[in-house]
Amino acid sequence: MGDGPTRLSILGATGSVGQSTLEVVNAAKRGAFQIKAITANNNVDVLAAAARTHDAEIAVVANPERYQDLKDALFGSETIVAAGPTGLDEAADRDVDCVMAAIVGAAGLRPALRAATRAKRLAIANKECLVIAGELFMQAMAASDTEIIPVDSEHAAVFQVINQRDPSTIERILLTASGGPFRTFTLEQLRAVRCEDALKHPNWSMGAKITVDSATMMNKGLELIEAQQLFGFDYDQFDAIIHPQSIIHCLVEFCDGSVVAQMAHPDMRTPIAQSLYWPSRQSDDIQKIDFKSLSELTFEPIDEQKFPAFRLACDAMRKGGPAPAVLNGANEAAVAAFLDRKIHFLDIATTVAKTMEKSEQMNLFGPATNIDEALEIDAEARKLAQDVMVTI
Ligand code: NDP
Repeated sequence: MGDGPTRLSILGATGSVGQSTLEVVNAAKRGAFQIKAITANNNVDVLAAAARTHDAEIAVVANPERYQDLKDALFGSETIVAAGPTGLDEAADRDVDCVMAAIVGAAGLRPALRAATRAKRLAIANKECLVIAGELFMQAMAASDTEIIPVDSEHAAVFQVINQRDPSTIERILLTASGGPFRTFTLEQLRAVRCEDALKHPNWSMGAKITVDSATMMNKGLELIEAQQLFGFDYDQFDAIIHPQSIIHCLVEFCDGSVVAQMAHPDMRTPIAQSLYWPSRQSDDIQKIDFKSLSELTFEPIDEQKFPAFRLACDAMRKGGPAPAVLNGANEAAVAAFLDRKIHFLDIATTVAKTMEKSEQMNLFGPATNIDEALEIDAEARKLAQDVMVTI
């Protein structure tokens, strides 16, 4: 990004995106990156190993009960050790060129916002930030003059395709979806889905929450909301389509009928590297597409009967105001319950639907005017979701 090493912080360094980011750093020229802060929630061993390998300035575990374990694991190293919300603040306050926001869920909102307003560039993987408080988040990025580069593969794809194009020539942006592990299932089969089945994604290796979101197709709905916040345009210019091969990541339709697609092998290291090196590119050992052996690239519509979570997210996007935050809070609560084997797979979407209905009937929330209010809506939606949830 400049002449010296890129000073990088990774929020959520022990997760799937965080670890892939460290792989991109490992593959870089020696001295290309300097790791300033890395964070985790509980996973002290992986965090400490990364801190030692990369001589991180500070390592933070969000769960304060793991502070002593992290301290022990980093005994004798020069890395500063901290924990809890104040520790996350300390990590976010490091002076960096780029921050990778890769904490999962609403928990990532405050740290990402705080770190990004101090950084030159925000590489954003944590889509929930933009779902809960998209407008407020984007306003803060504009006020602090922080460059924002998407990491989600579809958004990284759109970013490349629309970069430096005249926005008035863009008519439609289609995000692709693999369809997840249950694309061909009947409703009857979906009723019998177990947690283990939902955690097996056909094309991508990811954290548990986003893997379940991909199975319900809520992930694609969250991504449409994320895309609208990142790129502007009217909500009805965004749509999603199933493309089971996950080679094409977006399709952008221009006013003259031309459609420009972005393709890459499904590997998060490609969009992560883009977010770290942009506008430059770095060669890597990432598998390239072998077009001669690609037998087909197919598309099909999303079946909203089988995957109602997608429709719920589209409805929330259209409604705006507090609806996306309510959707997200309810979904996080429902996915956590599903991962704890407390509810069935189809009850994830049912819980979100009931939460949204109830919050609207009771007119519980107005639009958030600041981040505290957005997080308050998220917290209340989680409580409401617990109330309406039918447990096993
Ligand atoms: P993971 O679950 O693999 O990792 C999440 C990270 O966040 C871990 O470092 C975890 O720490 C940390 N964390 C979890 N809860 C908290 C908390 N309450 N406070 C602080 N830190 C916390 O998630 P992914 O890497 O899969 O996803 C991260 C984000 O990126 C999500 O928003 C996801 O939607 C998005 N994304 C992910 C993609 C992927 O391929 N994985 C693709 C595109 C977007 P610990 O390890 O200690 O639990």
